[in-house]
Amino acid sequence: MTMTCDAEAFLPFTVDSFAVTKLDPKVVELPENFSRFNRFEQCIECGICMSACPTMAADEKFFGPAGLAAIYQARNKTDDPAKVAHLLGLADGEHGAWRCHSAFECTEACPQAVDPAGKIMALRRELITRRFSKLLGK
Ligand code: SF4
Repeated sequence: MTMTCDAEAFLPFTVDSFAVTKLDPKVVELPENFSRFNRFEQCIECGICMSACPTMAADEKFFGPAGLAAIYQARNKTDDPAKVAHLLGLADGEHGAWRCHSAFECTEACPQAVDPAGKIMALRRELITRRFSKLLGK
């Protein structure tokens, strides 16, 4: 479940999809059910997502859904190149985002609508984008 709202008052507790994706709301066509504002910092560290995650059983060093969601959150709070490189380096590591099997069990199980699987997919997208940019010399 993803909480949706349009109220400015909720902004401190939400992330603006347009700010994260750098999309311009004036030029993109949105699907009907698109949620612009998503709750962001509501993880209560209950660990339910870690229990639900099938990868945790296979790799005890896997950061897990909550850990990767936290990396995503930290990454989106900074534009400092050194911090970004460190955080994305963690996500790109042996026990990071690529170990996820995309089962989305974590997102299903999370009682706080953190959507850790969605955060992991977002990390992967950024990692891929950066790899292509490097390949293209940008
Ligand atoms: S992401 Fe959700 S399920 Fe996982 S620890 Fe945080 S609140 Fe609990």
